[in-house]
This record gives sequence, structure tokens and C-alpha cells, in this order.
Amino acid sequence: MRLFYAALALEANTFLPLPTSYQAFVEKVYFPPGQYPAKGAHQTGAMDAVRTRAKRGEFELIEGSCYAAQPGGAASRAAYERMRDEILGQLKAALPVDGAVFNLHGAMVAHGYDDCEGDFLEQARALVGSTCVIGIELDPHCHLTAKRCALADVIVLFKEYPHTDFVERGEEMVDLTLRTIRREIKPVKSVYDCRMLASFPTSTQPMRGLVDKIMALEGKERVLSISIGHGFPYGDVPECGARILVLTDDAKPHGDRLAEQIGRELIAFRETAAPPGYSVDGAIDFALAQDGGPVVIADTTDNAGGGAPSDNTTFLHRLIARGVQGAAVAPIWDPIAVRLAFDAGEGAKLPFRFGGKTALASGPPVDAEVEIIRCVPKAHQTFAGAIVPLGDVASICMGGVEAVLISTRAQAMGSDLFANFGIDPTQRKILVVKSNQHFYASFSKIAAHIIYAESDGPLPSDYRRLPWRKVQRPIWPLDAQVEPRLII
Ligand SMILES: [Zn+2]
Repeated sequence: MRLFYAALALEANTFLPLPTSYQAFVEKVYFPPGQYPAKGAHQTGAMDAVRTRAKRGEFELIEGSCYAAQPGGAASRAAYERMRDEILGQLKAALPVDGAVFNLHGAMVAHGYDDCEGDFLEQARALVGSTCVIGIELDPHCHLTAKRCALADVIVLFKEYPHTDFVERGEEMVDLTLRTIRREIKPVKSVYDCRMLASFPTSTQPMRGLVDKIMALEGKERVLSISIGHGFPYGDVPECGARILVLTDDAKPHGDRLAEQIGRELIAFRETAAPPGYSVDGAIDFALAQDGGPVVIADTTDNAGGGAPSDNTTFLHRLIARGVQGAAVAPIWDPIAVRLAFDAGEGAKLPFRFGGKTALASGPPVDAEVEIIRCVPKAHQTFAGAIVPLGDVASICMGGVEAVLISTRAQAMGSDLFANFGIDPTQRKILVVKSNQHFYASFSKIAAHIIYAESDGPLPSDYRRLPWRKVQRPIWPLDAQVEPRLII
């Protein structure tokens, strides 16, 4: 048996003027064949599974290139076509193959392509033919389009948000693909379109219960896999929105019933799935009123994980203006300020300007007398055991407020985002993290409280404030009356 593997991942926020170039992929994740790292990560979740099982002798693995960029604006046409054609060229050279498995994030948009994964799979299918089994692992913040559902035989999404289960879901996807190749199973899809845009963190109820419930249903009554597609609510493409995917072993009527039932449960709590958001000053007030710490405040509107620049300064301005002591903010993406900090050196005290650069929603820069705490070249944080590169990083202190400045854009994921740069997160009163939910897995281990705040960054939690053009209507909450339905 011969199996091909490759990855191509971008979560494209179509509302942002932050173009995603080929270089943006190379800087984040680029593993050509023969140069895979020891461990896969978030956007290469099936890499460990294919390598482990190939080593066991189950099949011959043909490695293709793996590309992933930090979420940002749509990819340039040249970048997408270059990566697509590189991977498809490798696939063509590898033929014949019995299976092709891919990590595709699932919310990639490029100039001229609203459904990059659908286009990619269409061309891959044309190469491998109808009998080859195609398996894909996707992020739940994907656009689960009808086209890609028709082209891939096996589709498995991460279940957890934060996405701590990328390895397990990759193993399942590879396992189902191999069983399909061996004709032990015949995967059939049922897809229910919930007609809604919403956020579904799995760390709190009621979403936690629904994820536990679908996991308990798998492996019984010919249910192979159940995925909840949250959708990516900052990607303006026709099929944006939440969808349920049930894979059964040739038991479509049962899959249809389950997909609808799970979809209806998800719709029922759409207004309460995400935790309530504090205002900026309301969040600071809450934190200061607590006896202990740290209080972790998520600055969700400037989450680089949703494509935001991560250089909005509103929290910093308010913390400094209020004279708050023992507060730290991370990460602020500002490669120029990092360079200036490196030029000044650790321990230097100087007037310093940072943040507030990329867009109107970044706010005004911070000008302050700062002390450079640490300058760390080629730094990183960790997420669920995986290394997340940050480029060169400088931490700075201005009175009672500290900040971590990064060169390679990323959201806050691990508490080592502070600890690696001379800021002990357990000893601070307030930690402001730029992230929507991925920070939770790590920071919940040290936080006295975790709260979510709505600042003035470019990712509002009220999706009605965004200038939608392409999404199919009606869809909640843009429209009050919607018609959820089984689409496959
Ligand atoms: Zn995601």
C-alpha cells in the first residue's frame, strides 16, 4: 500500500487588509519532503500518525510538502497556486497511490479562490482517480463546503476548542482512511447546515457536554466519526457557517438523523455558548477587585488566531493610565520595536514607541519610558506540547505594566509566553492575553480567574458589525429567520 501525505493551512480573515504571502507560510510552517520535524503540530496533526504507521510497515509513506501560515488576510493568488502546484506535482510523481491524506485547515481563501480546499481536492482527485481514498483532517473553524465533502472520502475535524486534540483526530482520520482502503468500511456522509455564525469554546458548558456526547456515540451503530464544524465567522465566503458532519459505515438514514439532532442541539444554545464579554475597564475593575491572582483577561478582538494583527494598544493605554501595578500584556506584534529593543540591549532604559501600527483597529502606539527586560532571539511558546515560533522577542517594563513584543505574529497559547521572557505569570495580578480561546488550556492551570473582554480590535464578537457580501443568506445572527437543513 502506498500513502501520500501533505499539509496546506490558512485560516483567512477576509475582512482584514493583512495580505498572506508565500513568505508568511515559509516563516511559520514549511516542511519539504524529507525535512519533517520530530513531531507534528496543530496544522500537521496527522503527521505523527502516518509516520508511526508507515514505520510499522502498514504502508509506504510518500512525503509531500507541509505549509501553514499564521491566520491573516486572504492568501495572494500566486502564493496559493505555487503551494498547490508544488504539492500536486509531488502527488503526481508519487502515483500510483492507494490513499492521499492531507491536513487542510479548511478556511483558506486566496485572491480568486473562495474555496481553496475545494479547488485543491478537485485537482488532487483528478490526479489520483476515483478509487484512491482521500482523507482530510480539518480545523473546526473551517468552511465545510459541499464541494469538499463530495471530493474527500474521510473528513475528521478537531473536536476541542482550544484545539488540543489535533494528534488524536489525525490518528482517527488516518485509521478510517486505511480501513476504507482495505474495504473494511464504506464511509458515507450526512451534513446538516445550522445556518448560523457563532463561537463554541469547548471548555465550558453546554458545549463541553455536546462534545462528550458525540464522542460517546462514535464506534456504535455504525457511526464512524462525528464532527462539529464551528465555521470561521470572519471568512466571508458563500458557505461560511456551522455544519455538522456524521460519517457512518454505509448507514446514511441513521447518520442523517444524528446530524440533524446534533445540529438542533447546537442551535439551541447558540446565544449562550460563548462566555459574556467585559468592557476593557470593566475587566480591569473585576481583576483589581479580586484578592488573589493572576486574573487572566482575554483580549478577544485582537486575536492573531483569528487573523488580527495583535498590535492593538487599548488595554495597554488603560492599564498605564490607571497606574495598575503587576500587569503584563502579551503578545504585541511589532518587529520594528523588537529590533529597537535588541539594539538597546537588556537592562537599557529609554523612551520607546511600540504597538498601534498595522491598521486603524490597532489604535495609537504606546510612547513610554521603558526598561528592556529580556531580548531572546528565535524564541517560542508551547501549545499542547508543540513548539510555536515567535521570532525574536523582547519583553519590556513601564512602571507596573509589562509587555511581550514578538516578531513572528502569533496568539497567546502557553503561559511560557511570559515565563520564557523574564515575567513570572504566577506572580502577576493581571495577565492580558491576545487570544480567543487557545490560551485557556495552559493559563487555566495558573489563573485564579479567566474572563473575556471586548476591546476595539478588528474581531468583534457581534458579527453583524462586519461588512458581509458573499455569505449565503439568511444566516443567524445577520438574519432573524433561518432555515437549518440537511444538505448532504
Ligand atoms: Zn480553529
